[in-house]
Amino acid sequence: MSAPLIIVGAGHAGGRAALTLREEGYDGRLILIGDEPHAPYERPPLSKALLQGSQDLAGCSLCDSARLAELDIEHIAGNAVSRLVPQHQQLQLADGGWLDYAGVLLATGGRARRLPQAQANVLYLRTHDEALALRAQLRPGTRLVIVGGGFIGLEVAATARGLGCAVTVLEAGPRLAGRVLPAVISAALLDLHREQGVDVRLNVTVESIQADAVHLVDGQTLPCDLVVVGIGMQPNIELAAAAGLDVGQGIRVDAHLRTSAANIYAAGDVCEFRLGGLYQRQETWRNAEAQGRHAALNLLGRALPFDAVPGFWSDHYDWGLQTVGVMTPKVVSRALPHGGLLLCYLDTDGYLQGACGWAPGNSVAKDIKLCERLIIAHVPLPSVGLADPAISLKHWLRG
Ligand code: FAD
Ligand code: NAP
Repeated sequence: MSAPLIIVGAGHAGGRAALTLREEGYDGRLILIGDEPHAPYERPPLSKALLQGSQDLAGCSLCDSARLAELDIEHIAGNAVSRLVPQHQQLQLADGGWLDYAGVLLATGGRARRLPQAQANVLYLRTHDEALALRAQLRPGTRLVIVGGGFIGLEVAATARGLGCAVTVLEAGPRLAGRVLPAVISAALLDLHREQGVDVRLNVTVESIQADAVHLVDGQTLPCDLVVVGIGMQPNIELAAAAGLDVGQGIRVDAHLRTSAANIYAAGDVCEFRLGGLYQRQETWRNAEAQGRHAALNLLGRALPFDAVPGFWSDHYDWGLQTVGVMTPKVVSRALPHGGLLLCYLDTDGYLQGACGWAPGNSVAKDIKLCERLIIAHVPLPSVGLADPAISLKHWLRG
């Protein structure tokens, strides 16, 4: 019997890859190994509906155990891969067992970055079990301090306000989600969270965290019952690095998502690939979905270059944020109904490269979808017309 295909990491990218391999007709032995005790699930609800209490694990599931069994996908749960030996096409599990492989997909994602000075009462949010632990503590009147004004911090803040908590957000930088969002959207997020009663503080540094208070370097003390830290993600690259694979800020891959070792691919948050000429990682649902699927096709020998358009969304109270493509220096602002805003990013020749929208509910989704079609259609857009909300984006698609 020939050696199996093995997927390391049973998260979104790993789960999607396993499903794709079966959908595409691979009928050999397929093993999906994950250190969490659950079948693959999607993480976005962990800071939203699941944290709020209106969704459970089944509602986040990518494919449950019954479906995995039906597809003859061997799911090894609660067990990490501890060693990878590309020279022998073998890997070892934390419980000591060895497996041969014909091909491997590394979809090991990442973990929440830890705050060095954090002590008692500090929670992080990356996994379903961490979300449940946090949910159990979010009660009306709970004084919650959140360290980090990025996506975790802000989405947890919105959910916790909805549950009646008193929320303070501490952001080290001068604006919210400053590394990924344009300044005008950071400002809109700040206004909205403050309107909703969140005490947002920018440019602050935490000195220490005690059981009942957070101390800032400027001498202020913030009494609290609970601290959530959301200061970024640390990619799980150690397995690949120890095996001698090329790593940077993630596991480096070529245009086909192939790592530097034969028959080993990488996908999802851990994958560092070239986008716009630079190596980068994308920590998004959309990337995990697209790369998981893509790596599976290439494990089957298709040799397809990965060129999916990136993008993500984030929800805050009854407002939604969505992006597609990449941001460039040339930006055109377009007003949307009910105070929403669409920023369109053009290259120097006037071709749309990306868009970022902010609007009530899910209403921005249709504009972002049209922008994605315009990016793919590659038609030049006039800045003046683009800024005029009376001209539908469809106008240029028709043209
Ligand atoms: P992961 O989902 O992290 O899966 C990797 C899995 O591999 C994990 O289960 C890990 O434990 C396991 N693993 C690691 N090492 C090993 C090993 N050696 N052996 C075995 N198993 C291993 N994105 C959006 O676009 N929109 C959103 O609204 C959004 N909301 C989010 C909310 C939260 C709370 C979080 C945490 C993320 C959110 N994201 C969102 C990001 C999105 O969920 C991630 O980009 C996506 O989960 C990445 O998938 P992945 O499979 O690469 O990694
Ligand atoms: P993040 O989006 O990188 O944001 C972390 C924020 O914390 C940044 O603004 C960062 O500022 C700030 N920060 C860093 N160190 C700090 C400190 N010591 N004190 C105060 N602030 C500090 O990371 P995250 O919010 O923790 O999210 C983790 C992962 O989950 C990411 O992969 C993210 O994409 C994913 N996620 C995505 C979504 C979504 O897309 N809707 C939702 C939730 C989670 P600097 O940038 O200046 O360092």
